[in-house]
Amino acid sequence: MAVYKNVHELVGKTPLVQLEAFPLPEGVHLYAKCEFFNPGGSVKDRLGEKLVREALQSGTLKPGGTLIEPTAGNTGIGLALAAIGKGIKVIFCVPEKFSIEKQIIMKALGAEIVTTPTELGMTGAIAKSRELAQSIEGGYCPNQFANPDNPAAYTETLGPEIWEDLNGKVDVLVAGAGTGGTFTGTAEYLKAKNPDVKTIVVEPVGSILNGGTPAEHRTEGIGMEFIPSFVKTEYFDGIYTVSDEDAFRRLKEAARKEGLLIGSSSGSALHAALLEAERSRKGTNIVVIFPDSSERYLNEHIYS
Ligand code: PMP
Repeated sequence: MAVYKNVHELVGKTPLVQLEAFPLPEGVHLYAKCEFFNPGGSVKDRLGEKLVREALQSGTLKPGGTLIEPTAGNTGIGLALAAIGKGIKVIFCVPEKFSIEKQIIMKALGAEIVTTPTELGMTGAIAKSRELAQSIEGGYCPNQFANPDNPAAYTETLGPEIWEDLNGKVDVLVAGAGTGGTFTGTAEYLKAKNPDVKTIVVEPVGSILNGGTPAEHRTEGIGMEFIPSFVKTEYFDGIYTVSDEDAFRRLKEAARKEGLLIGSSSGSALHAALLEAERSRKGTNIVVIFPDSSERYLNEHIYS
C-alpha cells in the first residue's frame, strides 16, 4: 500500500526535471528541482516542518502555545501546515506589499495575519514578531532570519535529495536567497559530498549581495536587506543579480516552452542558471531550485 499517513509526510522528495527547451551549450545539462510539488506549494514546507519539530522537541513551544513569525508568505504557509494537528496557534507578521494569495492560504490553514508597513520592510515584520512573542503567554518566535535550523532544514533534506536524484553527478547549484537558508543549507550538503561543486547565489536588483542598496523589486521571495549570521558567504562561488524584467521574461518562457508554472524567484534563478550554462564546459550538470509556482501570483498579472 502506498498510503501517506498525513500531510506532513508529503513534504519533500520533489521531482527533479530536466529542462530541454532552452538552448544550452552542447553537453551542458540543466535540471530543475520543482519545490512547488510540496503540499503547501513551496520549498518552505521543509523549513516549517523542521522549525515546528525542533520547537516542540526542545520544549520552547508547548501544545497550547502560539508560534509567531515574520514571513513574506511561503514560510508562513509551511509553518501553518506543519502546525496542523499539533495543537498550537500561529500568527504571522507580513509586510503589506506581499502577495494576497499567500495571506489567503495562511488564513485557510488557520493562521492569523498581522500586516506591517511596507516601508519598514522585513525589519518591521521581525520587530513586530519579537514584540508579540514577548507579550503573548506561551509565545515563541522561531525567527527564520536568525535560526540555524533554517539552513539545517535543507542540509538534511534538499541537499541529499539533489545528490541522490543525480547519483552524485552535480557540478553546479543555482539558488535564490531571501534569508539565504535554502542556498546555505543545500550548498553545505553538496560541498561536504564534493568540495568541487560550484554554488551560485541569485538575488534581484535591489538586494545587497553584489554591493547594491536595498530597493523595491517585483521578484518575490528573494533579495536581502541584511545578511543573516548563518549565511556562509564563502559558499558564494558566484553571485548573479537579476533584473525583474529578466526574471518575469524567464517565468513566461518556462510556461510556454516547458509547461512549468513557476514563480518569479524561480524565473530569476532560471535566468542565472542559463547565464551560468553559457560559461560551463561540456559535461556540466547544473541544478536550479524552483521555490514556488506562479499560481500564487496570478492576480499580479505576471503573464500579461
Ligand atoms: N523564493 C520564494 C518564492 C520564497 O518565498 C523564498 C523564501 N523567502 C525564497 C525563494 C528564498 O528562500 P530562502 O529564504 O531560503 O533564501
